[in-house]
Formats: sequence, structure tokens, C-alpha cells
Amino acid sequence: MTGASGATLWWLRRDLRLDDNPALAAACARGPVVPVFVWCPREEGRWAPGAASRVWLHHALAALHAALRRHGLRLVVRHGPTLETLAALAAECDASAVYWNRLYDPASTARDTQVKGALRERGLEARSFNGALLNEPWAVASSQGRPFRVFTPFHRHCLSLGPPRSPAPAPGNLPAPRTWPAGDTLDALALLPRIDWAVGIREAWTPGEAGAQRELAVFVDGAAAHYATGRDLPATDGVSRLSPHLHFGEISPHRVWHAVSNEAFTRQLYWREFAHHLLFHFPHTPDEPLYPRYKAFPWREDGPALGAWQRGRTGYPLVDAGMRELWHTGWMHNRVRMNVASFLVKHLLLDWRAGARWFWDTLVDADLASNTMGWQWAAGCGADAAPYFRIFNPVRQGGRFDPGGRYVRRWLPELARLPPEHVHAPWAAPTAVLEAAGVRLGHDYPWPVVEHAAARRRALAALETLRGA
Ligand code: FAD
Repeated sequence: MTGASGATLWWLRRDLRLDDNPALAAACARGPVVPVFVWCPREEGRWAPGAASRVWLHHALAALHAALRRHGLRLVVRHGPTLETLAALAAECDASAVYWNRLYDPASTARDTQVKGALRERGLEARSFNGALLNEPWAVASSQGRPFRVFTPFHRHCLSLGPPRSPAPAPGNLPAPRTWPAGDTLDALALLPRIDWAVGIREAWTPGEAGAQRELAVFVDGAAAHYATGRDLPATDGVSRLSPHLHFGEISPHRVWHAVSNEAFTRQLYWREFAHHLLFHFPHTPDEPLYPRYKAFPWREDGPALGAWQRGRTGYPLVDAGMRELWHTGWMHNRVRMNVASFLVKHLLLDWRAGARWFWDTLVDADLASNTMGWQWAAGCGADAAPYFRIFNPVRQGGRFDPGGRYVRRWLPELARLPPEHVHAPWAAPTAVLEAAGVRLGHDYPWPVVEHAAARRRALAALETLRGA
């Protein structure tokens, strides 16, 4: 099939793959395909990709461009307002249709609805597909027809819908257009930082579809079998590390679901679904608590404490190791994310939005749905949240989930020589032990910024102020 029906623009966003890509498959079935990426962060408002996400995006787009080249296609990159850019591109390459996979965050849904209507008014065929979720957020509802706010019934309902559809392979034939429209270079998008702080990210990851498939294969051959126990131990390779790949759509959740037949693991994929369900139905939640009574919570303002948390200088090793892992690699283990988030909102009594914003800028998997759910969970103000009175003790959490201190030692080399029984609470170690390990508190490693028991009392007192609110 050629020219008669015109080429199809495949408008790429966070579906940077050829495998199991519904919009791409439909475009290929129609005729020549022009893959297009339009960069317009302004349209994503306050939640345009953060610094680490931009680094990832640059490399993922480069990888996709190379993969398309091998199939005789290109990735056309443009900078500018989406609607006008797509319309101009369609005119330039005689395209009669624009196909894309849907996004579910509030800025994207509003923009995409507007783009779809405006393209149709211009006589173009505009169609969107589900390439990101096992179920559309609106296809899952309680027996009263309402969105879920609790995970267990949501999960049960999803399971009752039966297994997700099987993933489809990448199209065997990717038809090229007769003429290619001009594009910007990837470098022109200026996604990479001017000062190269992203070495750790490059060392830790291979952005792109091939990297995603490799990560999945490694997990299936190794940690998947012991996921239920291994997933809580940050020092081990017990988790899939697929989150940035899933966020950027370098692999589909269907492909992952069908590759890993482990109920403990597929349950996590439904947490991801739940996060999207919540964000779609409660679009105010990135900026406001799901439950309005928490709006009155008496958060503190404390720049130095926030800075200590961000830099991994709180004096609590599990928290600091997590924040340094994040800074270095753009990722943090889930057990540690829960601890650092709890520490910020409960020990330091700092607003969960300050933490969510820091994660947004530093995580390579920063995802508005999962990040919002994770932070509201930690703050106790969201769906299925941790009860506010349950306050993680970072020393006990360290002893339980990093018993030998291997994780802490890896990210805090200044504590590497402390024996296991002291590595999670160096301030409680005898002077001789500290000296033997070469640790001078206040010099090599900070004293705790707050004392656990006092912080706990302060957090509970703050919660008391909400009674009756
Ligand atoms: P695995 O354990 O291998 O799980 C497989 C996949 O399931 C993950 O890749 C992810 O897509 C999904 N998943 C697992 N746990 C969760 C969860 N609790 N919530 C939603 N999806 C989940 N995840 C993000 O992808 N982006 C974020 O911005 C993000 N922010 C978070 C903030 C906080 C405060 C907390 C507590 C959690 C956050 N998470 C976020 C969830 C979770 O920590 C990560 O998805 C997980 O650590 C990614 O590692 P993995 O791919 O090895 O996960």
C-alpha cells in the first residue's frame, strides 16, 4: 500500500519501542510510516520531564533512531507546539493520518484531546491506542461504577478480567514514505546537561528497547524465581529494574506480564496500573492530597533539613545510602524509597510535595502516576496509604532488610569499615569501634539530624492537630 491513502505519522511519546506497539502496528497496516517525536515541555506544565528523565529520553530516542534506521526508517525530531508541528509535518510528507499511544497524566490527556479534535477538523485521521497499560483506567470500576481507591479490590477486579492480551511482535515490514520531512537533530533538543553529571546514569543503565529486553531477560533467568523474598533486600539483585523502561514505553507491560509467571511480581505491575487509575480519576493528586482533610497538615519549612535529606546527610545510614544511590544512578530500590519518603514526611515533617519534586528531578523512572501514589502513600494522605501513626524506624528497617549492611556500605564508603551491628546506627557505636573504622562523627559522617523517638512524638502530635478536620 502506498500514496493513495497517504502516509501515517506515528507520533511517539512514551512508547519508544517497535515491539508490541499498537499505534505502530496500525500505522504499518495502513501504509508508509513517518515516526515523529515532538518536544514541547511547556505543554506538560509543572510536570515536564525532570533533569534525569531528560538524560534518559535523549539516549532512548537515539537508540530508537538507530533501530528505525536498521529498518529503513528515520525518527523525525521536531521542537515546537505539538498541534502546529504535527499539522505542518503531515502537510510536508503528504500524510493523511496521525496515530499515537495514549498517555494518562492530566496535561497530556487535555493536550491530546485537543490535538485529536483539531487534526480531525483539518481532515486528518487521528487515532489513539492503548500501548501503556494492561487495562484502560476507565475500563476498571467498582460494582457501583466508581473508581477504586483501595488496591486489593482493584487488583481482584483486574484479575477477574482474565489474563492481559498476548504481546504482538514488532512489525516485519516498516514501509517508508516516498519523501522524508526535515527534522531537528537530537542535540538541538538540549536534553543533556551542559555540565556532565550523568556519568552514573550512563554506567547503570542502557536506555532503549534493546536495554529493556536485556533487563527483562536477566530478571527472568535470575531473580524472578525468588522475587517474593528478594524484592525487599536492596543489597541483592532481587528486582527487575524495569521501571524506567516501562515508563518510557521501551517495553510493554503485556510483554513483561507474559514473560514473568510469578504472582508476587505481576501484582507489582497492577500497582503500576492502580497508580495510573488513581491519577486518571483524581487528576489533582500530584499537587493536593487525595483526601482534603490532609490539606491542613502542619508541614514545617526547614531548608537545611531538606538539603541534608537531598544530599544524603541525615545521619541515618539507610536513608543516606538511598539518597546517594538516587543521586548517582537515578534510581532507588523500592524498600529504600519507602524509608526515605517516610523519613522526610515523618521524621523531618517536611511536605511530601518537596520530596516528590526532588524525586521528579532525579529519578530516571520519574512517573507522575507512581511517584504521586508513592508519596501520598508515605505521607498517609492518599489511596491505600500507610497509616500516619506507623512510622518507619530507619535503624530497625536497616537491620531487617540490609542485615549485613552491604547496601549501606556500598553507597556510604565512609562507613564501610563499621561492623554490621553498628552500621545502621553509627552514633550508638562505642568510640573505640568508630575509631577503628576510621569514622569521626560530625566530620566523615553527620550526627543524626533528628532523634528518632523525639521525631516520632512530634509527628504524632502534628497528626493530632488534624483530628476533627
Ligand atoms: P520491580 O519490583 O521489579 O517491579 C516491577 C514493576 O512494577 C516496576 O518496574 C514498576 O513499574 C511496577 N511497580 C513496582 N512497585 C510499584 C509501586 N509501589 N508503585 C507503582 N508501580 C510499581 N515507580 C516508578 O516507576 N516511578 C516513580 O516515580 C516512582 N516513585 C516512587 C516514589 C515513592 C515515594 C515510592 C515509595 C515508590 C515509587 N515508585 C515509583 C514505585 C517503586 O519504588 C518502583 O516502581 C520500583 O522501585 C522500580 O523498581 P523495579 O523496576 O525493579 O521494580
